Amino acid sequence: MPALAQFPGARFFHEGQRSPMIASMGKRLVAEGCGKYRTGPGPEWTEADQQSYAAWQRKIGFEGADANGIPGKTSWDRLRVPAPPPAAGGRVASPVPGHRVTTAYRVKGPHWSLGYHTGADYAAPNGTPCVAVLAGSLVRSGFDRSFGDFLVLRAGGFDYWYCHLSEQTVKRGSVKAGQKIGEVGSTGNATGPHLHFEKRPAGGGFGTDVSPTW
Ligand SMILES: [Zn+2]
Repeated sequence: MPALAQFPGARFFHEGQRSPMIASMGKRLVAEGCGKYRTGPGPEWTEADQQSYAAWQRKIGFEGADANGIPGKTSWDRLRVPAPPPAAGGRVASPVPGHRVTTAYRVKGPHWSLGYHTGADYAAPNGTPCVAVLAGSLVRSGFDRSFGDFLVLRAGGFDYWYCHLSEQTVKRGSVKAGQKIGEVGSTGNATGPHLHFEKRPAGGGFGTDVSPTW
C-alpha cells in the first residue's frame, strides 16, 4: 500500500502554495467524483481545488463552514491522499514530508548534554513516514538510550541520523531519495513524538554535528 500524505495543517492551503501533494489530492477528488477542474488538477492551490474539496466535504456529510473547501484533518484522512513520489532528481523538502522544523539546530538549553541542540526536530504524529533526504546507503541502525531507535543514512560524505523512530522500515543498504525508511516515534529520551534529524561528517561521533541541511 502506498504511504499516505499526512495532513499538513489547514494553513498550508492558500493561494500561491505549490506542492505535488496538492496534485495528488486533486486526483483523489476527481476519483471521488468531486472534481470541479477545467484543467488539471495541478500542484498549485487554486479556486478549483477549493471548490472540489468543498464537494468532497459535502459528500461526506459536512455542511456550512465545515464545507468551505479548506481541508481539515478529518476530511483529509478520509480522502486517503497518496504521498506523492519525489520528482526525478527533485529535492526532498523534508525528512518528514509535510512537516517542518519545530526545534531548530544549535538552540541552547541545559537539557541537552552538550548545552545545545545537535540536530533539528520535526514534531509529527507517531507513525508519520520518514524518508531518505538524499539517495545513499543506510549504514547503521540500532538503539541508543538518548536517540532511541535510530537509522544512519550516509550520502555525499555525510551521515544523516534519524532518531526516536517508532519503526525502522529499512535497516541496511541502498535507498532512493524520498524513499520511506522509518516512522516518527518517541523512543529513547524524547518528550513526545518527533524526528531528531542530525548531520555529521561520515563516521563522525557525537559532537561533530553540522547544520542539518542536504
Ligand atoms: Zn532533537
